[in-house]
Amino acid sequence: MQLTDRIYVAGHGGLVGSALIRRLKADGYTNILTCGSRELDLRDQGATRAFFEAERPQYVFLAAAKVGGIHANSTRPAEFLYDNLMIAANVIHAAHVTGVRKLLNLGSTCIYPRDAAQPLREDALLTGPLEETNRAYAVAKIAAIELCDQYRAQYGSDFVSAMPTNLYGPGDNFDLMGSHVLPALIRKMVDAREAGTPTVSVWGSGTPLREFLHVDDLADACLFLMQHVSEPGPINVGTGQDLSIREVAEQIRAVVGYAGELAFDASKPDGTPRKITDVSRIHAMGWHHRIALDEGLRSTVEWYLAHRGQVR
Ligand code: GDP
Repeated sequence: MQLTDRIYVAGHGGLVGSALIRRLKADGYTNILTCGSRELDLRDQGATRAFFEAERPQYVFLAAAKVGGIHANSTRPAEFLYDNLMIAANVIHAAHVTGVRKLLNLGSTCIYPRDAAQPLREDALLTGPLEETNRAYAVAKIAAIELCDQYRAQYGSDFVSAMPTNLYGPGDNFDLMGSHVLPALIRKMVDAREAGTPTVSVWGSGTPLREFLHVDDLADACLFLMQHVSEPGPINVGTGQDLSIREVAEQIRAVVGYAGELAFDASKPDGTPRKITDVSRIHAMGWHHRIALDEGLRSTVEWYLAHRGQVR
């Protein structure tokens, strides 16, 4: 991928897409192509094909998807299945027919089987039943990986799939009912510090273990895979390190400078006891994450303070 190549980032407004755009610009890429969902509906096969024929991207990052938390996934499963299937099929097929040189597809570690052994290995995909609450989303994202692999097998297309772990960073969803734990706790502790509230509620027991990857590290991994890797099968992208919710809550408290107490609310669910990826495949390829959690939390808190009027 050269600095003047035509690079299309599908889903440039999202957490991952916006991190990709920041990184590509910072690296000096000059020919970055984006198109908002109002002008181009990637679920529309004809419109997607016409866009690829007119714009002729050479490299494609497929970061467009319908995403949401457990509530959205379980109340609108048909939309999660249909929208994600259509986006993947249309973009991947259009990339094939218009001769895109390389495409990077974004999956997610939440599409591994519900009971897969931890740390999650790439070869666990499709080996067992999926988590019921996000099965529709998972089936669509698994189909996208399968499309990349089968287009490679049948046509020799250079289509690669990355499987990021839990992400955080600028542009995240800070809505308390819909967000993941890091943005939720950042927001709650910033608000509590300012209001002088003596306790902040942390859901569950605090004992579940989670892994967190800064979205700028994911963007770095995506560029690395685009530049250096041409292999089938999903490739996990994570830190390979986990910590308890209690530990991460304490770290956020220190970064935010909140002096109150953490109140663990046992009436809220813990979720799965441990979620961590096996990152030996990408490590063997030569990629490691760089942003330590405390550094990433610091910059995310700063970003939140600067943008909280506009956050989702
Ligand atoms: P998960 O990784 O799919 O379970 O998603 P979450 O990021 O939503 O939750 C991770 C863990 O953080 C769970 O054990 C939650 O109970 C816990 N947690 C603690 N406080 C919060 C909070 O305010 N919001 C969320 N979303 N999770 C919280």
